[in-house]
Amino acid sequence: MKRILITGAAGFLGSHLCDRFIAEGYYVYGMDNLITGDLKNIEHLFKLDTFEFYHHDVTKFVHVPGKLDYILHFASPASPIDYLKIPIQTLKVGALGTHNLLGLAKDKGARILIASTSEVYGDPQVHPQTEEYYGNVNTIGPRGVYDEAKRFQESITMAYHRFHGLETRIVRIFNTYGPRMRLNDGRVIPAFMGQALRGEDLTVFGDGLQTRSFCYVDDQIEGIYRLLLSDYSLPINIGNPHEITIKDFAEEIIKLTGTDQKIIYKPLPKDDPLQRQPDISKAKEILGWEPKVGREEGMKKTYDYFRMLSKEDLEKTEHRDFTTRNKP
Ligand code: UDP
Repeated sequence: MKRILITGAAGFLGSHLCDRFIAEGYYVYGMDNLITGDLKNIEHLFKLDTFEFYHHDVTKFVHVPGKLDYILHFASPASPIDYLKIPIQTLKVGALGTHNLLGLAKDKGARILIASTSEVYGDPQVHPQTEEYYGNVNTIGPRGVYDEAKRFQESITMAYHRFHGLETRIVRIFNTYGPRMRLNDGRVIPAFMGQALRGEDLTVFGDGLQTRSFCYVDDQIEGIYRLLLSDYSLPINIGNPHEITIKDFAEEIIKLTGTDQKIIYKPLPKDDPLQRQPDISKAKEILGWEPKVGREEGMKKTYDYFRMLSKEDLEKTEHRDFTTRNKP
């Protein structure tokens, strides 16, 4: 039986990865410090004898007994509001955490896949973004702690690959959504869903003409799964190239939820990228992967998930105020 360590196991992507690898017949070690993760996402796995959970912070020395075939490093705060609240942990998990896990991979002879991000491209001046684009990042801006941690993470991963011959994989994840996103993580989809369910107006930042390209979680997990098992060690974009402005997206949500909310405009947060769309030619060619789930279908499933959450969850959700995004 193959054994895999998944960090960030109680998070959005981490928990879906645990499900996938268990379904594929792996023995899964899930690790999480539960700062932004939630045990609810994986509680259904605790009864299995192919799953073990470690409550551990990967910025400290990481120990896993016995043999290990694969490591997926998905531990990190991943929303702009989280970077503002916990900037030092964001830097540490991308830098020190990655270093510890690379060391563990080397010790165990394991292959390691690192979760990178479209944020390495910053506010991109090349559109759509290809893997060859070096990016446009403000090192000292509010997003710098995440962007630079992830850029460092890619560098150290490539250094372990080149210097130690470690088997490494790097996925650059573009905006991904679906069930188990944290309602209060402040990202646009949970924010709009929460607002629609609470009967509040939808807050669009800036003029709403900035774009994003949203990928449904099942597609993202399939891309990551294929990348791990491929022999490709350079970074690869995984995302859905179907691009939309945030304003049009807000209108889609209003239609989907059948509510009569209005759109209200708030200032655009600092360094908010104006456009983002992955070029996925490499993923298509190398992994034979492309997204299958359209926004209509994916958003319906996501809305069904948010609707099932309790009233209590919904009420305790702190609404992301644009001012907290600009001023920590
Ligand atoms: N956004 C918005 N209203 C919100 C939350 C976000 O208009 O209540 C915008 C945000 O300014 C950005 C886009 O939606 O342009 C996506 O934001 P998110 O935080 O989801 O992720 P990002 O892609 O910026 O990391």
